[in-house]
Amino acid sequence: MCDALGVEAKQELNPAQQEVLAELGAPKEQRPRFDAMLRHELQRALEDGLEPMLPMLDLREGEKPGDSMFVSKYALGQVLGCERKFVVEQAEPFEWKVPIARGTIAHKAIELSVHWRRELDPMTLVDEAMARRGEGIDPLADWLQTISETERAELRGTTNDLVLKFLECFPPLKPAWYPSTETSLRVEIHDRFVLSGRCDLSIGVADGDRAGKVLVDLKTGSTSLHHRDDLRFYALLDAIRIGTPPRRLATYYLDQGRFQVEDVTEDLLFSTVARVVDGVERMLMLSSGQRDAATATGPACRWCPVRHDCDDGKRHLADDEDTTLGAGW
Ligand code: SF4
Repeated sequence: MCDALGVEAKQELNPAQQEVLAELGAPKEQRPRFDAMLRHELQRALEDGLEPMLPMLDLREGEKPGDSMFVSKYALGQVLGCERKFVVEQAEPFEWKVPIARGTIAHKAIELSVHWRRELDPMTLVDEAMARRGEGIDPLADWLQTISETERAELRGTTNDLVLKFLECFPPLKPAWYPSTETSLRVEIHDRFVLSGRCDLSIGVADGDRAGKVLVDLKTGSTSLHHRDDLRFYALLDAIRIGTPPRRLATYYLDQGRFQVEDVTEDLLFSTVARVVDGVERMLMLSSGQRDAATATGPACRWCPVRHDCDDGKRHLADDEDTTLGAGW
């Protein structure tokens, strides 16, 4: 019997699916073991790095004394990129939009697909996921209940594209692989710094001190080395949480059917601690007025909210346009 993707129920995998299996799997003897003290050492390294910044927490504009500081992979990536863009975006209140919501709905649809007993039809999974998320009492549910018909149609269409690509490229996720979507991770340091995030997809589990989990970030668009930093952050949180770090980190580009993978090592985790400490320090310096926001040009200038008022950004975009046009001749 074939499902909607033309894949046999007792699975004939296409080359992309076979590649995913090959990248994510590993024989037990090839999976690394980690020292049980590692989680304590990582926690201590974060505590030592962040302790000098405790007095700066209460200097933040718009925060009450005693408020915790929430640190996400997104904020770290922003502040370690262009500080001016970070400051501008921090000042904007968060609101749900189609490009943001489609990832969350797609993850819910993928989660449903694991235990789905009927034909794996992406559109049905998306509709079910939208219905489930729309039933809650959280801000996403409020947004889903009030969006226009046009936004709903756009959300449905773009999410369907993501889910279809996922089902085409990944082998069907078996419950025995311990798949989990939007896995929330959280580490608190000095009861004031909250490092948290949600990983798109986690597959596998540790076996004692032997690593077995693979963290997967699903992306659209072009590859970027910065995407590795997002997964490293999650690997650090998971390593502190359970003591045995994930085995491998994989950014999967759905539009291209390609992976960027790296194995988790102790060095990688400690370098991530240093990146977190650096990023938190920059955020605190900026939010307490102890540092002027520097600009750093790059691809993000194209969708930066202040690109029309930023001289560096305008120059960069003009050069970029020249290069792009020149490349065509
Ligand atoms: S346009 Fe570019 S350089 Fe200027 S603030 Fe935005 S991201 Fe930074």
